Amino acid sequence: MSTTAVEPITELAEQIARLKEERKAVILAHNYQLGEVQDIADFVGDSLELSQRAVGLEAEVIVFCGVVFMAETAKILSPQRTVLIPDPRAGCPMCDMAPVEEVRKRKAELPGVPVVAYVNTTDDVKAEVDICCTSANAVKVVNSLPDERLLFLPDKNLAYWVQRHTEKEVIPWNGYCPTHQRIMPHDIHRLREKHPEAKVIVHPECTPDVIDLADEVLSTGQMVRWAREAQAREIIVGTEVGLIHRLKKDSPEKTFIPISMLTTCPNMKRITLEKVLWELEDMRHPVEVPEDIATKARRAIERMLEVV
Ligand code: SF4
Repeated sequence: MSTTAVEPITELAEQIARLKEERKAVILAHNYQLGEVQDIADFVGDSLELSQRAVGLEAEVIVFCGVVFMAETAKILSPQRTVLIPDPRAGCPMCDMAPVEEVRKRKAELPGVPVVAYVNTTDDVKAEVDICCTSANAVKVVNSLPDERLLFLPDKNLAYWVQRHTEKEVIPWNGYCPTHQRIMPHDIHRLREKHPEAKVIVHPECTPDVIDLADEVLSTGQMVRWAREAQAREIIVGTEVGLIHRLKKDSPEKTFIPISMLTTCPNMKRITLEKVLWELEDMRHPVEVPEDIATKARRAIERMLEVV
């Protein structure tokens, strides 16, 4: 590795740009990535936007700046491309709350009940389910099913949110996002007192008591679009703090206030500019998904993409 962590950001960004061209690579970054990582990406988005983008790419190499399940999703949708993740330890604790053996066990207890999986699941879990969803399309996906009952995994908070918007019975799994779980009703009360004119937007991974206090419940991609159009000048943002960078860039005339300074996802923050550069240099961490798992998982993801 020819670089160190002390190199200035611009120099790193230039080296990344050069190498990216040599490798015929594109860089995709999730909205929760560090600001400087978002800034060197070709495309920044939420899980749904990134999955859709991965399908249409011409590049030979995708450098995926996000957590492992997202890079796996890109690989499943683009098996012919090399998908690299700059730090393969960037896991998602919510994913780990639904191990495939337990999913199989629960399915056996609920014969005939379809399974909807949030994309925050491992590749082998996606291979077990009927259809995937993201926070942007979960309600639409659930309502697209002909069945009256369904198992929804792994996020119980997203399941509760979907339940508010469907006549169907949504059976939740007992998983959650530790980052969004840290957002408390008192965070909203405190900030509303300080910023009485501000609107509060929160992610559906938040707990129901937080959702009850919000003005809008939106995926990160929806938050970006909503903020652009909003009349409000001050917006309190209830999701991972990385989104604030994207929001400020997109709507510079508005003020964005993080709901809490505790809403940092340590796994998302494992990806740094240095690691992106090293990955482009050495291509040491290609994402692999076994063919049999990829084929089944692709079906569940593509079924979701047909709905949205
Ligand atoms: S923010 Fe939550 S759901 Fe997203 S990667 Fe981090 S732990 Fe997983």
